[in-house]
Amino acid sequence: MQFDRISPLTGRVASSAPAMSAADASRVADRAGAAFSAWAEMGPNARRAVLNKAADALEQRRDAFIQAMIDEVGATAGWAGFNLMLAASMTREAAALTTRIGGEVIPSDKPGCLAISVREPVGVVLGIAPWNAPIILGVRAIATPLACGNAVILKASELCPRTHQLIIEAYASAGFPEGTVNLVTNDPKDAGEVVGALIDHPAVRRINFTGSTAVGRIIARRCAENLKPCLLELGGKAPLLVLEDANIDEAVKAAAFGAFMNQGQICMSTERIIPVASIADEFARRFAEKAASLQSGDPREGKTALGAVVDRRTVEHVNALIDDAVAAGARILVGGKATGVIMPATVIDGVTSAMRLYREESFGPIVAIIRATDEPDAIRLANDSEYGLSAAVFTADAARGMRVARRIRSGMCHINGPTVHDEAQMPFGGVGASGYGRFGGAAGIDQFTELRWITVETQPGHFPF
Ligand code: NAD
Repeated sequence: MQFDRISPLTGRVASSAPAMSAADASRVADRAGAAFSAWAEMGPNARRAVLNKAADALEQRRDAFIQAMIDEVGATAGWAGFNLMLAASMTREAAALTTRIGGEVIPSDKPGCLAISVREPVGVVLGIAPWNAPIILGVRAIATPLACGNAVILKASELCPRTHQLIIEAYASAGFPEGTVNLVTNDPKDAGEVVGALIDHPAVRRINFTGSTAVGRIIARRCAENLKPCLLELGGKAPLLVLEDANIDEAVKAAAFGAFMNQGQICMSTERIIPVASIADEFARRFAEKAASLQSGDPREGKTALGAVVDRRTVEHVNALIDDAVAAGARILVGGKATGVIMPATVIDGVTSAMRLYREESFGPIVAIIRATDEPDAIRLANDSEYGLSAAVFTADAARGMRVARRIRSGMCHINGPTVHDEAQMPFGGVGASGYGRFGGAAGIDQFTELRWITVETQPGHFPF
């Protein structure tokens, strides 16, 4: 049985993939469990070589990846190209980690006892990735787990099964032992059963999930029942603060990029711009000019800053947020409601806590301006959210920026840079409703290995009896 992904642009079938059942998924986990030790026992340089080949193999599929992302999710070619570049970089970073998965010698109080800690692979790691940055997030779900010596299963998004399948094809061509790298695809209606069966499977020892907070809670509950650790990268409502001494040009550029790249469908997207009162009018005027200059268009027909959003649900959700905000007194500075998936960049000023746009993730090309009286008020507003993934602060005084950044409750904060920033080697993750755990660099090793304590006695023991 197959299921179809319908293109948001054409309404026609963009791709088809196997509609696996829970039993099919369990068989994939059996296969991964059986393959695990062959990969785990390979030396670190052999694992590194395979991962480096996988990075090359991703890049060799450039045209196919770009076409798949345009067809399946309506992304621009620029976003697809960036996805591929960062995903290859994440794979090479993972390759570089293989010789850094070490341990330490720990001083023991017991005479003659040599005590060490070692990090060991855990078994099968299940990675569940969404559609919005599909190459980056699909690769992130499996690259570091593989570097650590685990077998992996990528549970593809139902919205971009072809893009996720291309990742697994590229990796599979790189020379992993048979069964080390696996893909599960499913009809959307079977998601709960298929994911549940995979989490329950005894060979699966760690789960990482990138997606919505609502599904993150379901995953976390299921993992808790199984006493299996999980890493959750969930939604966001990133604030960008503009203080009175900020370079307004830089703040405008970063806010526009952060709010509208990939049509605002990034977990780190700038959803709330918080300018302080003394510069709020000037910032709003210049930001509106910038937003008005950004064109939206069909990514198959040429280059525009914004492409299509992923489906009609996003259009309806954003339109409803606009209606609600305007009814409660907010002003549309640029853009407005859309009739189709090519949506305009939209800026809403005067957003207050009485409006849904103040707290709900839009995951679309709309940004709220929430005016603050001064710096403490801006920090209060930034922290008035259940989410805490990314944030940004604009100020000419780096020390002040540092002080403010330390008071914002989020996993990541950028001073004089956009809220959208990701690099393979950085500890990436959030707090609160944005989830827990960290991908990236050395932090990823902690997530996907078991830390063990091993001792060797080097002299005769003394016991009380
Ligand atoms: P989603 O949560 O709807 O779907 C993600 C996955 O969950 C899919 O693979 C789906 O099969 C699975 N799923 C759906 N229902 C399930 C159920 N009942 N039980 C188990 N699994 C189920 O997310 P989405 O719409 O694809 O992605 C958008 C969301 O992802 C946004 O909220 C965004 O902020 C977030 N996101 C977070 C990050 C991050 O790093 N923090 C990155 C990108 C996207």
